[in-house]
Amino acid sequence: MENKKIVVAIDGFSSCGKSTMAKELAAKVGYTYIDTGAMYRAVSLYAIQNGLMDATTINESALQSKIATIKVDFRPNKKGGSDVYLNDENVESKIRTLEVSNGASRVSTLRFVREHLVAMQQAMGAAKGVVMDGRDIGTVVFPNAELKIFLTASAEVRAERRYKELLQKGENTTFEAVLANVKERDERDTNRKESPLRKADDAVLLDNSTLSPEEQREWLYRVFSDTIAK
Ligand code: C5P
Repeated sequence: MENKKIVVAIDGFSSCGKSTMAKELAAKVGYTYIDTGAMYRAVSLYAIQNGLMDATTINESALQSKIATIKVDFRPNKKGGSDVYLNDENVESKIRTLEVSNGASRVSTLRFVREHLVAMQQAMGAAKGVVMDGRDIGTVVFPNAELKIFLTASAEVRAERRYKELLQKGENTTFEAVLANVKERDERDTNRKESPLRKADDAVLLDNSTLSPEEQREWLYRVFSDTIAK
């Protein structure tokens, strides 16, 4: 039974702590962690760097003509985790800015972008033993995942967490700007036509607004162990 490998799908709103949760579980149980948001961020960075997207428009036809050449993968880093690579360049530190975040939620509305990345994600998780986080993992990428979690927290709590993170990284921003960004992305993620963010019927819901990191960790490990034991 210990050798049974499953797919763990963690979906939810932005800045809910999905990646922290997913990363910790993966490390504890020896699974591979796959941050699908980083993949949309890498495509956003590509579009910005190549002049295909500015604050208001995306050159969709040009991006579409390049999409097959956009390679995104993960490689181990020295800290025991992994970094995201865009066409063989480590872009881990370039993809966490507000500009790239905002662009990611815009390029992620495009069907050809989603199809390209979903195919990569399905290949990455084909052998199971993965914890994958995103917006559509339990609904589209792995609808048959053995364990699906849908994470949520209030917009204010999420903005506060993100604001602190950005300040620590030295980014010059305000709480109001971060809250507006969180709300704008929620709105776009929930209302887009292609794979909108929604809880899969068989996903377990967790609102972590008032949970400590330890409580959350214990909860997740318990749910994971229960699933493996089934
Ligand atoms: O999770 P993260 O905030 O890094 O994701 C960046 C953006 O990529 C999100 O705002 C969302 O619009 C998009 N995304 C998505 N589907 C996923 C993961 C992320 O549409 N599976």
